[in-house]
Amino acid sequence: MPKSKVAAVLLAAGGATRFGRPKQLLEWDGRPLVAHVADTAWATGLNPLVVVLGAAAERVAPALEGRPLQVLRNYRWEEGVSTSLNVGLAALPPSVEAAIFLQVDQPLITPRFLRALVTRWRESGADIVVPAWEGQRGSPVLFARALFPKLAQLSGDVGGRALFAAHADRLATLPVEDPALLADADTPEEYARLCARPRRTPASFLRPVRALICDMDGVLWRGNTPLPGLRDFFALIAELGLRYVLVTNNASRTPGQYVEKLARFGVTTTTEHVLNSAQAAAAYLAEHAAPGATVYPVGGAGVREALLARGLRLVEGETAEHVVVGWDPHLTWDMMATAALAIRRGATFIGANPDRTFPSEEGLVPGAGSQLAMLEAATDVQPIVAGKPEPVLYRQALARMGATPEETLVIGDRLDTDILGGLRLGLPTAMLLSGIQSREDLARSPIHPDLVFDDLAALVRAWPR
Ligand SMILES: [Mg+2]
Repeated sequence: MPKSKVAAVLLAAGGATRFGRPKQLLEWDGRPLVAHVADTAWATGLNPLVVVLGAAAERVAPALEGRPLQVLRNYRWEEGVSTSLNVGLAALPPSVEAAIFLQVDQPLITPRFLRALVTRWRESGADIVVPAWEGQRGSPVLFARALFPKLAQLSGDVGGRALFAAHADRLATLPVEDPALLADADTPEEYARLCARPRRTPASFLRPVRALICDMDGVLWRGNTPLPGLRDFFALIAELGLRYVLVTNNASRTPGQYVEKLARFGVTTTTEHVLNSAQAAAAYLAEHAAPGATVYPVGGAGVREALLARGLRLVEGETAEHVVVGWDPHLTWDMMATAALAIRRGATFIGANPDRTFPSEEGLVPGAGSQLAMLEAATDVQPIVAGKPEPVLYRQALARMGATPEETLVIGDRLDTDILGGLRLGLPTAMLLSGIQSREDLARSPIHPDLVFDDLAALVRAWPR
């Protein structure tokens, strides 16, 4: 079950003349438009991300500096969009299985929408996936690698749409519920209208919320200190009858240990409200593996307990059908050798969480992600990762609560795990500044939460009653 590699190609070479400045540099939520659309593609997890510039490239390129993407230059942009397609395609490595071609002037597209395109492609097996509504077809479009040579043969001002008719039998559509999402800023008037769209207030995000996925460290406490608003937060949950799951990427502690910690802070909860990444990995395995399947576990009590709770059989050898890896401070070379041999024999390779480092009292030491990197290097197999920002943990939390993404708020203090995980699944997100990251981090990050609060106390105060 390796992950498919889907790239994003952002076509931003055009020379629109009606805006008084390069369209790519129009402002959108305090950022240049080209950076905003690139950030959306990145938050979706599309990789690699290449941006094709042409007109005014010298002025546009600095707007993308410091972002994890590749800037390409199309010197022949005036000949039309086919030349930009060519430049973008040429930069995609052979491992890329499909690519989404994005326009620079569709600022309302969300990571959730882009993920839906990818999912539709995986499920349909089609070579083209096009958003469609009421007989109309829109952008962005996904093309599978099989059609890359055909795309590269186009010439002049002809885009990928030219292939639709000839490959109608290999085309799938993605039904679009809200076509306004695909609006493009083609003229100054359309851009002005998009900018003037009604903004959502914090209350409009919070009012429909019926369920919470809440991070713990940096949100509920820091070290052994409860954070401001902790008790009021749980009082609010009780008052409104909200469902909630407390989640953590740390697989080394058991849910019971978190319940005990909260009890010390005067908050009563139960283990059904706690979900760690080892439990998410075990639940994923229970769904995808045969009953009584064998697992070689690497990790502490958290990992073993979670696997046994799901009825999986723990074995100590390379014949295991699955390998589940959590952070293990007592790791030995023999354990890594056994895991590598099992994976090489075809065992599914699952990681509890991707954190490369672990904050010890002496400083940063190797975390679970470093163990995964070692096994990946030894096997050439990429793990399926359960923890944030990958979707497995949040999906398990939603299933446990019987909640939909629309009614579930993610609360966290880390942009690249808590908030990114929420964005990828289309959940509304609230970032708290009481943990690891600051307002300066937020300003520099390509990840943009829907709501930002100083701490839980501020979130509770903002909640509409
Ligand atoms: Mg945290």
